Amino acid sequence: GLSFRSTKGCWATNLSQQCLRGSSRLFVPPSPPVNPEEVKEFQHFISLSKKLLVMTGAGISTESGIPDYRSEKVGLYARTARRPIQHSDFVRSAPIRQRYWARNFVGWPQFSSHRPNPAHWALSTWESLGKLHWLVTQNVDALHTKAGSQRLTELHGCMHRVLCLDCGAQTPREALQERFRVLNPKWGAEAQGLAPDGDVFLSDEQVQSFQVPPCLRCGGPLKPDVVFFGDTVDAAKVDFVHKRVKEADAVLVVGSSLQVYSGYRFILTAWDKKIPIAILNIGPTRSDHLACLKLNSRCGELLPLIDPPEQGSSLQSCC
Ligand SMILES: [Zn+2]
Repeated sequence: GLSFRSTKGCWATNLSQQCLRGSSRLFVPPSPPVNPEEVKEFQHFISLSKKLLVMTGAGISTESGIPDYRSEKVGLYARTARRPIQHSDFVRSAPIRQRYWARNFVGWPQFSSHRPNPAHWALSTWESLGKLHWLVTQNVDALHTKAGSQRLTELHGCMHRVLCLDCGAQTPREALQERFRVLNPKWGAEAQGLAPDGDVFLSDEQVQSFQVPPCLRCGGPLKPDVVFFGDTVDAAKVDFVHKRVKEADAVLVVGSSLQVYSGYRFILTAWDKKIPIAILNIGPTRSDHLACLKLNSRCGELLPLIDPPEQGSSLQSCC
């Protein structure tokens, strides 16, 4: 079975591929049963919209078995003392990059194997029916792409790509995994618990023998093509999303507590433009007071119940 125990600021689990398959519910916070009245209101909100913008966060992926950071009791911050890597630490220190990549190498097979859940599939279906104006995700797990979403901005990048810090070359993460394997043929370590960014915990001794290859083009240091904490989202990308938000006639937040400003600012823009906001998230968010509708249900349970917005209906204020 799967068991968690705290170990002096770190945490360890007995994870095996076998028990991981049944672990999806482990990282989903408890929520009340879906309320039919709320479903009706939510359906109304979605039906009224002809240009719906959806913003998703870690909460949509917990049902795929990826823990989030901030959920009460089940999020990484609540369960453990682990905190995500800071951008400045990664850039300035080769030993920190070595530790990061060693842990990421171990976590990768599991992290990259996660599958979309019914919430991802529902949003992808809405898009294929022409009912979704744009999708913005704060997640780096590629689950929207795996579900087929294309009108998509990955606000914080994607773990499935690697970026050279010197020349900017982009390469697939899977290719780097192969280079890791070749460089570290005898290196073995067990994954001991996965974080939202694919991080795992390893001992110092394990880390120090791990060989990290440089950029094939220029020899520079490699970084996942994601925005680490303490870094900022590319200004052109922020601009682009602001434009999509302003074009929208309704904004739906799915599985985000909106604690991180990079996502929160778009909700402020929507509020400023008087665009109705609905929030689907288990637990309070930073924008509950700005939303005309707040639902505390599981994303994968509620979204598939909704018929995508009907064309031809006109948006009235629901707030
Ligand atoms: Zn390079």
